[in-house]
Amino acid sequence: MSELRLMAVHAHPDDESSKGAATTAKYAANGARVMVVTLTGGERGDILNPAMDLPEVHGRIHEVRRDEMAKAAKILGVEHHWLGFVDSGLPEGDPLPPLPDGCFAVVPIDEPVRRLVRVIREFRPHVITTYDENGGYPHPDHIRCHQVSMAAYEAAADHVQFPDEGDPWSISKLYYGHGFLRRRMQLLQDEFAKYGEVGPFEKWLQHWDPEHDPFANRVTTRVECADFFEQRDQALLAHATQIDPNGDFFRAPIEWQQRLWPTEEYELARSRVPVTLPETDLFTGVSL
Ligand SMILES: [Zn+2]
Repeated sequence: MSELRLMAVHAHPDDESSKGAATTAKYAANGARVMVVTLTGGERGDILNPAMDLPEVHGRIHEVRRDEMAKAAKILGVEHHWLGFVDSGLPEGDPLPPLPDGCFAVVPIDEPVRRLVRVIREFRPHVITTYDENGGYPHPDHIRCHQVSMAAYEAAADHVQFPDEGDPWSISKLYYGHGFLRRRMQLLQDEFAKYGEVGPFEKWLQHWDPEHDPFANRVTTRVECADFFEQRDQALLAHATQIDPNGDFFRAPIEWQQRLWPTEEYELARSRVPVTLPETDLFTGVSL
């Protein structure tokens, strides 16, 4: 077992294709083993593609999303594991409605941590990626994903915790993905302006203080992965119910993205190996 192993922990099927997807495709193409772990089945995701908003899809959304996920994993070239929890949905309204019974965000945290520890001890990743304390996006499952990942990072290495779930394994490094970057949006928006068009990011940019861009104060690691943007988009499109192929996400041509922002960004949040920041490779400092 001499290969590098990367585990990407995500809340819902499609998150792996919209957050850090080109990074996972790149490492897989370069010979690392890459496993995506999806914590929930995405059962409460809205159907965002008008072409897929059909009665026969609504009736079997659970299976549809499993099929979409399998297709996306194949496109990215990654292994995939379902942790088996139920999507909490994004509560909307004022006041917010209570979370549904039994959903991921209300299950006592020990159970998802136990299951994730088991997968970590089996796969033995050198590096794990997850979301920051805000979830990167204020969905209860994303915030829970952060909490579960952090607890499992510690517990997997601790022989006292979950002794029935395999031999302890110390992950070398843990990263938060930071895909939602003001500076990147501004660059793309400016490029639209050069061609006399109004780009899709106006409403985001208007109300977003540049000082609160994670790129300004949190990013430690930039992974060059422009050759894999096409694969990223194809994987995202495989989640056909969740993504409108005519939506804003696909408006900036890939060539612009490759030229203006050829990287994906991460924040090194935990490390058990010595590091020098900034870095350009998630595995820097990892020894086999
Ligand atoms: Zn999600």
